[in-house]
Amino acid sequence: EAAEGGRSRPRRVGIMGGTFDPIHHGHLVAGSEVAHLFHLDEVVFVPTGQPWQKETGKVTPAEHRYLMTVIATAENPQFRVSRIEVDRAGPTYTIDTLREMRDILGPDVELFFITGADALGAILSWRNVDELFELAHFVGCNRPGHRLTDTGLPDGKVSLVEIPALAISSTECRERVRKGEPIWYLVPDGIVRYINKTGLYLDDRVMDGTP
Ligand code: ATP
Ligand code: MG
Repeated sequence: EAAEGGRSRPRRVGIMGGTFDPIHHGHLVAGSEVAHLFHLDEVVFVPTGQPWQKETGKVTPAEHRYLMTVIATAENPQFRVSRIEVDRAGPTYTIDTLREMRDILGPDVELFFITGADALGAILSWRNVDELFELAHFVGCNRPGHRLTDTGLPDGKVSLVEIPALAISSTECRERVRKGEPIWYLVPDGIVRYINKTGLYLDDRVMDGTP
């Protein structure tokens, strides 16, 4: 994008991947804070399709998770949602998503992959770690219950940042709904209403893909 005076700087795009089952304020605060700290032009939330790491568990159909992510981010002009993983057949790999983002956005865009401390810990065990770090700068956010440490992280490829800590997880939100406990203020109001309307998380039954 051209800036004032004819100078330009590369567009800076954050990518926040997740199951978002459901999306909660921890995700939104992480996206917002990293956008601020790294002067990002936008943050793209990328709900997973069929998450390979959670294949054995029950994950809500992607269409519900995608719609909840759209609802939760709709008011923020810097936030977007991508269907890139939802529409891809087969298991989801972050490397494919980053490659595809790179193809779509072009070589001049700077990509920042945003993860919580727990997910960052798993990164080093991913395949193609070197290519991952070539494709994007990684930003690890603190998360209550997970210690952020830079041991074993490659120099200059990963930033560890402190964000306002929210002890919220999707797992806890799902359990609260199942037990009839409120999730107001843990997730955006529209997400509470969407969950009530659809009956998501009330029991262990797997819902079909059509919201
Ligand atoms: P689940 O309990 O189902 O695993 P989750 O709350 O961990 O859900 P995910 O969709 O797995 O949410 O997480 C997507 C990304 O957001 C991951 O990088 C995760 O580390 C990060 N994240 C999730 N919750 C928080 C939080 N409260 N603070 C900071 N980062 C978070
Ligand atoms: Mg998680």
